[in-house]
Amino acid sequence: MSGRAREIEQGLASVRSRIARAAERAGRAPEQLTLVAVSKTWPHEDIRLAYEAGQRDFGENYAQELAAKREALSDLTELRWHFIGALQSNKARLVVPGCVLVHAVDRASVAQALSRRAVAAGVVAQVLVEVNVSGEGSKAGVTPRDADVLANAIAGYDGLSLAGLMCVPAADQPDEVTRAAFRRLRELRDRLAVDHPSLTRLSMGMSHDFELAIEEGATHVRVGSAIFGARAAR
Ligand SMILES: *Cc1c(COP(=O)(O)O)cnc(C)c1O
Repeated sequence: MSGRAREIEQGLASVRSRIARAAERAGRAPEQLTLVAVSKTWPHEDIRLAYEAGQRDFGENYAQELAAKREALSDLTELRWHFIGALQSNKARLVVPGCVLVHAVDRASVAQALSRRAVAAGVVAQVLVEVNVSGEGSKAGVTPRDADVLANAIAGYDGLSLAGLMCVPAADQPDEVTRAAFRRLRELRDRLAVDHPSLTRLSMGMSHDFELAIEEGATHVRVGSAIFGARAAR
C-alpha cells in the first residue's frame, strides 16, 4: 500500500471513530450520519484511494472540478457525489443529474435553474437551503427569517425535493458559540418541517467542529482536511 493510501485510510478511520464516539455521547445511531468526504483540490487518485478504503460519499465545491472528477471516476459505481459549494445558475447542468444532494442553495434563481435541469433530465434533485446562522454580512446563506420564503419557493418548483438545511458557522469561535449556531439550524429545521415534512436533513460540521454538530443533530458532516490533510491555498 502506498504512503498516500495509508494516510487516507488512517484519516478516514480516525474520523469514523470520532463520529461514532460523538454519536454515542448524543445517544444517536451512527447509521443516521453520513460522512461526506470533502475532496476539493485533491486529485481524483486520492478519491479512488478513499473509495478503496470504503468511503462512498464525496463533496466538491466547484462545478467544473466535480464534473472532471466524475468523469475520471465513472467506474466507481457506488460513489455518491454531493455538491457543497455556492452554485451559479449557469452551472446547474454540471450538478443535476449526477449529485445525490445539492447542499448550499441560497437563492430562488439557483433553485429555479436546478428545477429546470431536473425536469429536463427527468429526475428529482434533493436540495438543502443554506442558512447564515452566524449573522455576518460576508457569509453565504439566507437569514433564518428568509429561509421560510426560500423553502416555500423550492417546495413549489417541479423536480426539486426540499430535503433539509445546511450551514457553515463563522470560523474560530468558541465551542459554545458554534454549538449555539448548530442548535439554531436544528430549531429552524424543526419549525420549517411542520409545513415541509420532507425537510429532515441537517448538513453541518467540518473538520474542526463535526463532533459538536453531531451532538446538535447533524445528519451529514462535511469533512475534508481531517481525512485528506491540509489543503494548499488556492
Ligand atoms: C471545504 C469545505 C468543507 C470541508 O472543510 P474542512 O475544514 O477541510 O473539513 C466543508 N464544507 C464546505 C462548505 C467547504 O467549503
